[in-house]
Amino acid sequence: MVKAVVGANWGDEGKGKITDMMAADADIIVRFQGGANAGHTIVNNYGKFALHTLPSGVFYNHTTSIIGNGVALNIPVLIKEIKSIEEKGVPAPHILVSDRAQIVMPYHILFDQYEEERLGKASFGSTKSGIAPFYSDKYAKIGYQVQELFDEDLLKEKVVRTCDQKNVLLEHLYHKPLLTPEELLNTLHEYRDMIAPYVCDTSAYLWNAIKENKTILLEGQLGTLKDPDHGIYPMVTSSSTLAPYGCIGAGIPAQELKQVVTVCKAYSSAVGAGAFVSEIFGDEADELRRRGGDGGEFGATTGRPRRMGWFDCVASKYGCRMQGTTDVAFTVVDVLGYLDEIPVCVGYEIDGEVTTDFPVTSKLEKAKPVLKTLPGWKSDIRGIKKYEDLPENCRKYIEFIEKEIGFPITMVSNGPGREDIIYR
Ligand code: GDP
Repeated sequence: MVKAVVGANWGDEGKGKITDMMAADADIIVRFQGGANAGHTIVNNYGKFALHTLPSGVFYNHTTSIIGNGVALNIPVLIKEIKSIEEKGVPAPHILVSDRAQIVMPYHILFDQYEEERLGKASFGSTKSGIAPFYSDKYAKIGYQVQELFDEDLLKEKVVRTCDQKNVLLEHLYHKPLLTPEELLNTLHEYRDMIAPYVCDTSAYLWNAIKENKTILLEGQLGTLKDPDHGIYPMVTSSSTLAPYGCIGAGIPAQELKQVVTVCKAYSSAVGAGAFVSEIFGDEADELRRRGGDGGEFGATTGRPRRMGWFDCVASKYGCRMQGTTDVAFTVVDVLGYLDEIPVCVGYEIDGEVTTDFPVTSKLEKAKPVLKTLPGWKSDIRGIKKYEDLPENCRKYIEFIEKEIGFPITMVSNGPGREDIIYR
């Protein structure tokens, strides 16, 4: 059985926690897109971890963690992450890396920095992890697949081509130091030696696992609104964040995906630029940011403060629809316990008309939030295990949102730990 855990919004919904929790009953966890640009924060009995590349299942002995072909593989970051979790006492995880995954090259990271510098105020707010230049090269068919590392003749010839091409931009557009084929080849040899123990035909491995009735979890990064096709283009990421893409980025047949758990946070947060209709500012935002998540809403990769907002039913309804949601996991509900009243965005007013359908970016820029205020529950709900034991106003908040988004909330998360979950 194949399941996916994905985000409904801008990312940081708490997917890491839900995946870590669901991994208890899974055999294999697969990362299928994105790279080391985003992070998952996971709190468990080994401590608190910010993972950027490793799937959230690495903390269990019984799971295999796969870096799928759809991932932007940063080899040094992966190796460093494996070391860092082993140093904290986590047993060596079983990790497989797709031989078809492509490699984030040092020049991708440089180009990401140089381009953001060049754009100045018009920059994308990139995490400068090389993700956009990486995917550009992948689709321009000039990227490096992991399997190519093991073909020395090909590498020797390809590094020359790469340098010729990249140096034009480095010299004339960015005025930065040039690449040399020797240096690049050296780097690729280092990468080959680092990654060799993990390389595998992962789609064949997964196919066998499906035939053996294993449970496979596809772990998404970011959320629907960062999808390059269906998100807030161009303020999106460079690979699809949608569950159906999980099948492609992992290399499994689409009809095997039976459950899509879409993670939705009880309020909104976003990083980077782009329209954010229910955004709040000032003291109101500072307080929610400080109390949010587990120790505040600050980027897991960059540490930068996240933009904050109220729950957005319009964006979340769309976010859940595009994922093909079967279950909604509603997270971080405990954080809202301090509020007397909780505003929720129930519609967008665009040019004098109210809509509950998520619009294209040009219209989104003009949207003003239509807010409805629900009563708060003014208490700490951490530790509660049964839905009926939640305060009435908390249940009303959850049920209101469930009705607005139109997908069943089957899990309510009331704390950062694995055990802080209420099934409905
Ligand atoms: P992801 O990228 O979707 O995994 O999200 P992040 O890891 O960036 O953000 C989620 C943050 O919220 C992390 O710090 C989690 O430990 C924390 N978290 C997850 N679920 C809950 C919850 O139900 N309550 C609280 N208070 N924190 C949570």
